[in-house]
Amino acid sequence: MERFTVDGIVIRTSVTGEADRIVWVLTRDRGIIRAFAKGARGTKSRLHSSTGLFAYCSFSFYEKNDVYNVTEAELKELFFDLRSSMETLTLAQYFCEVISRCVPDKNDEELYLRLLLNSLHFLCKGEKNSLLIKSVFELRLISAAGFMPSLVACGECGEFLTDTMYFNAGTGELFCNACGRGRGCPEVHSSVISAMRHICFSDFSKIFSFTLPEEQLIALNRLTETYLKSALGQEFRLLSYFNDINKN
Ligand SMILES: [Zn+2]
Repeated sequence: MERFTVDGIVIRTSVTGEADRIVWVLTRDRGIIRAFAKGARGTKSRLHSSTGLFAYCSFSFYEKNDVYNVTEAELKELFFDLRSSMETLTLAQYFCEVISRCVPDKNDEELYLRLLLNSLHFLCKGEKNSLLIKSVFELRLISAAGFMPSLVACGECGEFLTDTMYFNAGTGELFCNACGRGRGCPEVHSSVISAMRHICFSDFSKIFSFTLPEEQLIALNRLTETYLKSALGQEFRLLSYFNDINKN
């Protein structure tokens, strides 16, 4: 039996019983905790809004025999503006879906929570292109999860950068203009490779600080999402949905 308090964000909910909720909380340093929130679906419950999707709170849990209950949840941020468009809402839900499949059990790395909070914050503000936010989220996350692509130099000859390069989004290998031809990998503009290096290698506080022309942002997105899906060996229902919305 244990009682503890930890910051976290609700990344998934489901209903149970007459008015109860089950919540999946991505915590600062205890991985993802699945917990019961008793009575939380009642509109008068003090847990009602603080156990909804995207609620970022200081959660107090009571654990017995590996069963967790939310006893208190002090709301810090609701990210309400995510609901202002179907595009941002779908993207935010996709982020939560990916996180739920990436974070190792009992993980104590704070990075996952920071990355999700920052991504949701930028989505809410609406000042950055949602494709940029999506690529940063996907590539930094998958790198943190142990699938860092080989972006340092051409995998064949060691050339650092050529005007166009080739990136194999299935294996994460990079090739220069001379070595990459005929490998069946997409040709990529050097600015996209620089952006990928920025996302993977720069200090966390700077990862969202870059710009790309629309056409190259679209190319970056195609690479980061293909690489993420291939590294995890999974498809994401919400990703297809987001891409359908984004096309229109
Ligand atoms: Zn080369």
